[in-house]
Amino acid sequence: MDIQKGKPVSTGMVIGKAFLLESESIRIPANYITDESYAQREIERLRTAMDEVVEELHSFAGKLREKTSAKIAEIFVAHAGMLEDDSFRKELYEGIEKEKYTAEFAVTSAMRRWREIFNENDFLSSRVPDLNDLERRVLRRLLGHESEDLAGLQDEVVLVAGDLTPSQIASIDTGEIKALATDGNGPASHTAVIASAYGIPAVVGLGDITSKVAGGESIVVDGTRGEVIIDPDPETCVRYSNRHRELEESERTLVEEMRELPSETQDGRQVLSLVANIESPNGLAKALQYGAEGVGLYRTEMLFLDSDRMPTTEDHFHAYMRAVKQLDGRPVVMRTLDIRADKLIGTEPELKEQKPFLGLRSLRYCLKTLDVFKPQLRAILRASAFGEVSVMFPLVSGVEELEEAGDVLDGVKSEMDEAGEDYDPNLPVGVMIELPSAAIGADALAEHCDFFSIGTNDLIQYTLAVDRANEDVAGLYSPEHPAVLRLIKMAVEAAEKAGIPVGLCGVMASTPLYTPLLVGLGLDSLSLAPPQSLPRIKKMIRSIKFSDAQQLAARVLEARGPGRARELLMEASESLPEVP
Ligand code: PEP
Ligand code: MG
Repeated sequence: MDIQKGKPVSTGMVIGKAFLLESESIRIPANYITDESYAQREIERLRTAMDEVVEELHSFAGKLREKTSAKIAEIFVAHAGMLEDDSFRKELYEGIEKEKYTAEFAVTSAMRRWREIFNENDFLSSRVPDLNDLERRVLRRLLGHESEDLAGLQDEVVLVAGDLTPSQIASIDTGEIKALATDGNGPASHTAVIASAYGIPAVVGLGDITSKVAGGESIVVDGTRGEVIIDPDPETCVRYSNRHRELEESERTLVEEMRELPSETQDGRQVLSLVANIESPNGLAKALQYGAEGVGLYRTEMLFLDSDRMPTTEDHFHAYMRAVKQLDGRPVVMRTLDIRADKLIGTEPELKEQKPFLGLRSLRYCLKTLDVFKPQLRAILRASAFGEVSVMFPLVSGVEELEEAGDVLDGVKSEMDEAGEDYDPNLPVGVMIELPSAAIGADALAEHCDFFSIGTNDLIQYTLAVDRANEDVAGLYSPEHPAVLRLIKMAVEAAEKAGIPVGLCGVMASTPLYTPLLVGLGLDSLSLAPPQSLPRIKKMIRSIKFSDAQQLAARVLEARGPGRARELLMEASESLPEVP
């Protein structure tokens, strides 16, 4: 039994079989056969190893298709195809015959050559990890190492990985992935955000969990404590199973208890609307079940991340209508495409930008790529004819940029007028406050939009110059930093003055420690993920007096730094009920 500590990013607890998504490659030094007569033997060894890997890949793909995701299964079928390719095999055999390589070195040197070719091509370079994966499998066979990844798919699968890109996460069918444990990824990385939106327990920043797990063994992921236990002993298994049952029971009770109650402070002075963050319409049923009043942030980019072609207006419309129908009159805020930086779209190769977080991302990218932006706006407008739809622009830096986006929206409306297509002419337009410039300029922005939503995940990153996905600086990523809070306050005051609603949709909204503070800062709504946090946050709000919350906010805003701010929040939380 081996207990590993990481950062909890999505609550809940799961015991399952580990499924290792490996990324390390095995290094083989230059190695030659000493006698020509060995060549045939090496070729046979290699042929057998490759045949076995092909079989392994097909059987693996079959299990994945059945248990996890058809999309991921196809990756492994493609890998098998490469190994079955005659010209590829010929190249390897020639390495042995002509260059006198050992089977292992023939594989390594051929793969090196292919990597170089792939790296020269913008599109193929993103496929280099596939070559590494294939190389590792064949070498494992040749070296007699155990294959680890077939074992773990019978029960609940706990995905153990180095780092996951958001598009990998997006393509995973979370129906079978019960929890996530990764070496890297900071607590506000998109991997963490998405895991939490799907409501699967996740612990990130575990350092080298991938080297400790072989695949197939039992593993506990405690996303509440940030703990991972590899090969738990029988006693621990029983303890965790009992805890799992208790947690499920108390969760059910809490949901029942809170469902019909309003999310208002104890003195009835502040009523917050509690809505949900979703990544796709798939997440909606769970959010509604936990009592969400609507959707405060629909991260529409998943349609791009999960696809190998640009979605059309029809693709968008189809997805949005699935959400609108399920919501049945409840509101939904559709955020326009927020990609690049760490959210690369499936059709794009790696970015060449040196500082992608300061580069052509999000709204900036959309304004430069109208053939991507306009079909999405048209689909949002179309959907607005069928429900309570709003549109929201991410990463707005100021009024001129907002106006530019507004002009594009108006252009799409005119095109739709000409085509006789219906839309809501009063479609509310919101602005995400996630750049310091937007918070500082919130008074001007508030004059030009219908609502604000404060995106603290990015606001913290850009205010404190701390990469939200970098675990080395995760300790500096402080939602409670008074500078961040002052920016939130500025946005809230500007919204109040202009008479528009202001919500908050970053991870901070779902963290009970910050609830009294956010109530005191005067937010009108909180958009939460994971859905399980909703009844907890509601219970918290219902236990707070608005005047106390205001006093707390005033004190925290004046704290000398995040350390003191946190102390004040912890002290305040001691007088509040414990939320499970
Ligand atoms: C945010 O930045 O707070 C936010 C909600 O958006 P995302 O996490 O998708 O960047
Ligand atoms: Mg953001």
